[in-house]
Amino acid sequence: MTSSLSTDRLVVAVDGPSGSGKSSVSREAARRLGAAYLDTGAMYRAVTLSCLEEGVDLASRQAVAEAVRRAEIEVSTDPEQEQTVLVNGRNVTQEIREPRISERVSAVATTPQARENLVARQREIIGAHPRIVAEGRDITTVVAPDADARILLTASEEARLRRRGLQLGGSQSAEQLAEQVTGRDRKDSALVNFTSAADGVVTLDSSDLDFEQTVQAVLEIVLRAGSEGTR
Ligand code: C5P
Repeated sequence: MTSSLSTDRLVVAVDGPSGSGKSSVSREAARRLGAAYLDTGAMYRAVTLSCLEEGVDLASRQAVAEAVRRAEIEVSTDPEQEQTVLVNGRNVTQEIREPRISERVSAVATTPQARENLVARQREIIGAHPRIVAEGRDITTVVAPDADARILLTASEEARLRRRGLQLGGSQSAEQLAEQVTGRDRKDSALVNFTSAADGVVTLDSSDLDFEQTVQAVLEIVLRAGSEGTR
């Protein structure tokens, strides 16, 4: 039996709500699997920044879709390096994490043509890497439904608020934090279901797990999926 930890081709799809820890857990899992890492949320954030820079009216679906089509974005995929995100050649790695982007990204993410465009780009990136862990909201269901392992990483609302608060260094009020986590999830779920697992997707609840335990649990799911696939 070949272990999925060493096969030539491996696609791992991870979805989850805001603050579930999916970015840091997926990045670390990618490192240990010797795989690339794709943060699709960074792509949505990057095109949102591009829309704002162009002064696009986010209420106009057509204007948003056209701006997304035009946006040249580049996201790094090496989990061993610090992430870099370029928009039209400019380094926007820090900027895309600012609250003004977090507050507006759902407007872009709920534009169907914008999603179509980004999903196509994401599939291209996944196809270009023999081994990759890709994370977001619709990777298990839309972007890579045929991935070798598909995981829905969840956590209680309390755990998600706590983690995102720590990540932002305590700079946000309780209301701002709640808006960034639960408010954004509510808006995002208009087009994409990332709260219940689709058929064949394994739910991993990390509420009572620490970081290392969550990474281990992801690796176990990948290993199990690999051995089932080669039976
Ligand atoms: O994961 P992150 O919080 O950086 O994602 C930013 C936003 O990008 C989400 O709030 C959501 O609106 C959007 N997104 C999405 N589909 C994905 C990844 C992110 O709609 N696959």
